[in-house]
Amino acid sequence: MELLKRRILQDGRCFPGGILKVDSFINHQMDPILMKSIAVEFVRRFAGQDFNKVMTIEASGIAPAIMVGYLLELPVVFAKKKQPKTMENMLSTTVHSFTKDREYSVCISHDFLNPGDRILFIDDFLANGNAAQGCMDLIVQAGAELVGMGFIIEKSFQPGGKRLREKGVKVESLAIIESLDNCKIQIRD
Ligand code: 5GP
Repeated sequence: MELLKRRILQDGRCFPGGILKVDSFINHQMDPILMKSIAVEFVRRFAGQDFNKVMTIEASGIAPAIMVGYLLELPVVFAKKKQPKTMENMLSTTVHSFTKDREYSVCISHDFLNPGDRILFIDDFLANGNAAQGCMDLIVQAGAELVGMGFIIEKSFQPGGKRLREKGVKVESLAIIESLDNCKIQIRD
């Protein structure tokens, strides 16, 4: 997606440890016009797939996911990283955070992830794929089905994309970062 790639090259910044900072338009301040274009592209890429719900994980997946849900008029549900006392029928799993380098649990209510649901999963980044695999685990626990996974940015120098594709998951990433070596952002054409 050219618009996104140009924006990453213009405003993205490299951090040590292979981290790309895009907090001026995705992760902190958000550009809703770009986010709408991102959602339009996800809708185009998953046009042939049959899904009835969009799922993501808080916090940065929520903006693109809700834009996709809005365009397709589908419900959007997000996995939570803090366990609310009031959550009923909770499903949970453990995820290793790449950016924080620690384990955390994520949960979702079975009330909003049902057997028979066909899920399109959307998130901001795909790095090692731990968040995505945690969400896949919740989908399995719920008896729902994963139809595809869309990421705004995939870092192909980390194994998440390979891992998910090897499992047969349809993965679509709108910008693929091949390297952040020497603090230079290299994006696949
Ligand atoms: P994974 O579980 O695939 O290793 O990492 C996915 C999550 O880690 C994403 O949802 C995102 O929040 C965060 N993340 C991973 N790599 C980056 C990065 O380079 N930059 C930013 N801003 N977040 C990242």
